[in-house]
Amino acid sequence: MRLLITGGTVITFGNPCQVLEGHAVLIEGDRIAQIAPPEEIHGPFDRVLPAAGKAVLPGLINAHMHYYSTLVRGLGKAAPSCNFREVLENLWWRLDRKLSLDDVEVSARVILVDAIRKGTTTLIDHHASPGAILGSLKRIALAVKDFGVRSCLCYEVSDRDGEQVTTEGLEENCAFARECAAAGDPHLRALFGLHAAFTLSNKTLARAAHLGHETGAGFHVHVAEAESDVASNRDLFGKTPVARLVSHGILKKGSIAAHAVHVDEADVEALAGSGAWVVHNPQSNLNNAAGVADVVGLVKRGVRVGLGTDAMTVNMFEEVRVGLWAQHLRQNNPSCGFMELTDALFVENPRIASALWGFPLGTLAEGAAADVILVDYHPPTPLNGDTVLGHLVFGISQAPVDTTICGGRILMEGKSLKIDLDEAELARKSRALAERLWDRF
Ligand SMILES: [Zn+2]
Repeated sequence: MRLLITGGTVITFGNPCQVLEGHAVLIEGDRIAQIAPPEEIHGPFDRVLPAAGKAVLPGLINAHMHYYSTLVRGLGKAAPSCNFREVLENLWWRLDRKLSLDDVEVSARVILVDAIRKGTTTLIDHHASPGAILGSLKRIALAVKDFGVRSCLCYEVSDRDGEQVTTEGLEENCAFARECAAAGDPHLRALFGLHAAFTLSNKTLARAAHLGHETGAGFHVHVAEAESDVASNRDLFGKTPVARLVSHGILKKGSIAAHAVHVDEADVEALAGSGAWVVHNPQSNLNNAAGVADVVGLVKRGVRVGLGTDAMTVNMFEEVRVGLWAQHLRQNNPSCGFMELTDALFVENPRIASALWGFPLGTLAEGAAADVILVDYHPPTPLNGDTVLGHLVFGISQAPVDTTICGGRILMEGKSLKIDLDEAELARKSRALAERLWDRF
């Protein structure tokens, strides 16, 4: 399959983020074969996608996601929560214990359709369903493969439901990581999931570290999301969450530490030295009144920071904008944080995904994955390498995604889905499952 995208303004992401006018993008199979003026690209082509009036961008990447939270939308039964711990106890931990394998798969299907519409083609998920663990990642993987996006999956191990559930969580990570490595499917990758240090004993951390190193997968874990996480680790173990996770070899190159809102100087130094990525989730942190991570300070001290949504949305442009406004408040300076936040989405997220997948992802370059989106956009001011980040944050972010391509496969074109899906039927099924889930809640 040779697909030519021509007539649009090519924006590469990466550092520097280039703007290429008068260039076409040739996709061959699942990779980008050539980016050049159209007269230099030779046919024949199986398809030509005219992109006049459109920005041609890499598919967006969400570096921290929870598909399983989809069915909570509109649920009004949770008791009022005054802090982050109560949010977990009154809502998320009550909900995830009741999830069935069908709930898990449908949750993923519903939100992945939304991701295609928003131009997000790669999602790094963190899954929990303590009452239906074994086989849960496989069910999510079915949805990922059917809809043609890319996802890195893990199961969040925790001691909060007793030893049997802990063991099943460890097993689910190992089984999926092994299957993933054996299958070599370019749409799926695995990390080893852990909930957070405050719900994990030293014994479980040691078991996870051993198994994770055996499977070769990095770890994906919530770190210092709330003050209570830090206080609980200090009280019970005499260490911060970062110090505990580093000492167990969990935070290392190839691992993801979601949040890092409440970290001290020594933690930041340890995070930078570990080589792990911090993934910032500003909307979730604001929603839970957990605080705003010092992204500027983290980056200044050498921590690599990417961007996730923690399931608040699959719209990465929305997340980067909110992250930017929050960082202005955090730094008490409206000029601080622009480069750190835009780098998180346009530079670090592609690096995270490229490292996990083992080939270039999230960038428009020859040889990179053919994950491309077209966004309706007529720039009203000069658009070039100097101004592109401003256009992305203030203009392109507000424009409709027209076409979404992942691995060379067109998933949406002209704002209409091209995947095999009866959307109304999926929503009907989801509503029926949600009603039953809410009854059990
Ligand atoms: Zn999370």
